[in-house]
Amino acid sequence: AKEEGRNTYRLFALDMNEKVSKFVWLDTNLRKAISEGQFELHYQPKKNLKTGKTESVEALIRWNSPERGLISPLEFIPYAEESGLIVPLGKWVMEEAARQAGKWKQQGLKIRIAINLSARQLRSPELINEFKKALLRENIFPSMLDLELTESCLIEDELLALNLIKEFSDLGAEVHLDDFGTGYSSLSHLARLPIDSIKLDRSFIHSIHNDIRAQRLLRSMVAVAQELELQVVAEGVETQDQLEFLRGIGVDHAQGYLFAKPMRVAELEVWMTHSSTL
Ligand code: C2E
Ligand code: CA
Ligand code: CA
Ligand code: CA
Repeated sequence: AKEEGRNTYRLFALDMNEKVSKFVWLDTNLRKAISEGQFELHYQPKKNLKTGKTESVEALIRWNSPERGLISPLEFIPYAEESGLIVPLGKWVMEEAARQAGKWKQQGLKIRIAINLSARQLRSPELINEFKKALLRENIFPSMLDLELTESCLIEDELLALNLIKEFSDLGAEVHLDDFGTGYSSLSHLARLPIDSIKLDRSFIHSIHNDIRAQRLLRSMVAVAQELELQVVAEGVETQDQLEFLRGIGVDHAQGYLFAKPMRVAELEVWMTHSSTL
């Protein structure tokens, strides 16, 4: 028992050290990375299951650190949210996505870009103005950018979120409720907010093959969405079986490794030409 206790302690100590050193590393490097623009957006297609076409892509940020290579957003977004750096970082995401949308528009490519917003960004009074400015600068319409919000965005300050969603939606941008089903009071949000679609979280999709309750939950969520005339997007679709099930219950759009991983622009453009000839 003594041994065990020591091991546990050592593990815990190691864990703490790792956490602290990660925090210190992020704290010294993230701000610099933002000012030096060490980020890239990768784009993952969403397929319209009714038409088979890719009408939009989701922008997913990666940090290209000279020291550590490509870093996943799961590693730094939580810290960026905690420290408030998500505000300048999120601004960069919005501007970069708008730039890309402008390029595609010039090339005659009809494709929307969805960007992820954090709760903290919604509290920034500049958000809407920055959005409008980015659109004007790149000469694009609000309908070319979709916004993905999680439920955590809504619970922190529901009235603020409601007003913002209204503003975005009045401008003509689509608003999607991300990670749907993982937060709490999901259903009450649906009734109140002028959103365009719900995005079923990957965790449900992942369980389809062996979890009858996940299947029933998905079927019910889709039914509710349909009653409210909301579009349904499924994320994290990896297998043909999952796709068949989702199609069967009336899901409108799907995204996942079955179709494509998030890609850099050049790779996505190649993917688009091939997938449209399929
Ligand atoms: P999310 O918004 O739920 O994005 C979906 C995540 O699932 C992405 O991870 C995507 O690469 C991954 N994914 C897509 N298809 C599949 C699949 O078939 N199988 C599996 N296993 N995974 C799949 P990623 O890119 O690592 O992003 C993680 C999270 O980081 C995102 O989750 C989002 O919450 C956040 N994030 C990413 N970019 C941004 C951003 O620009 N701003 C903010 N605020 N958050 C971001
Ligand atoms: Ca998302
Ligand atoms: Ca998710
Ligand atoms: Ca998410």
